[in-house]
Amino acid sequence: MAQYKLGCKDMGGMDCEFTTTGETTDEVKQNLYAHAQEVHKDVIASMPEDKMKEMDQLMDKILQEQN
Ligand SMILES: [Zn+2]
Repeated sequence: MAQYKLGCKDMGGMDCEFTTTGETTDEVKQNLYAHAQEVHKDVIASMPEDKMKEMDQLMDKILQEQN
């Protein structure tokens, strides 16, 4: 089964070494969101909705390339 990997560094501009892996893209995205909501709460809180959407699309793009 495919293993997906995603980290804060992939999102750009984030000085954080956190990376997560999973067997589905949803799992990896959920892991990264959970981490971000805990550790980068202020970043998430101050992020406009369209920027969040961009981030989400970037995640999908990166994960699809690992497929
Ligand atoms: Zn992080």
